[in-house]
Amino acid sequence: MNDVTCGQCGSRWEFYYLTHELDGDKKEDVLRGNGCPACSWGSSDRATGEYQLERVQSISRNTDLDPIKYSSL
Ligand SMILES: [Zn+2]
Repeated sequence: MNDVTCGQCGSRWEFYYLTHELDGDKKEDVLRGNGCPACSWGSSDRATGEYQLERVQSISRNTDLDPIKYSSL
């Protein structure tokens, strides 16, 4: 599974979905740890922000993007 973990709420998103179903800005928001649709982009109670390390690890493991680019926590 090529999942990317949301840095805010820990939801997992198929990278294919992020690329093809979200517009580019929203995809970048997920990749940068600014939340996802499941946590209302960081504004819901689910968004604790404690999954940023998992997010970077998931980018490293499951995509061919450069995780350094998305590593700011
Ligand atoms: Zn989220």
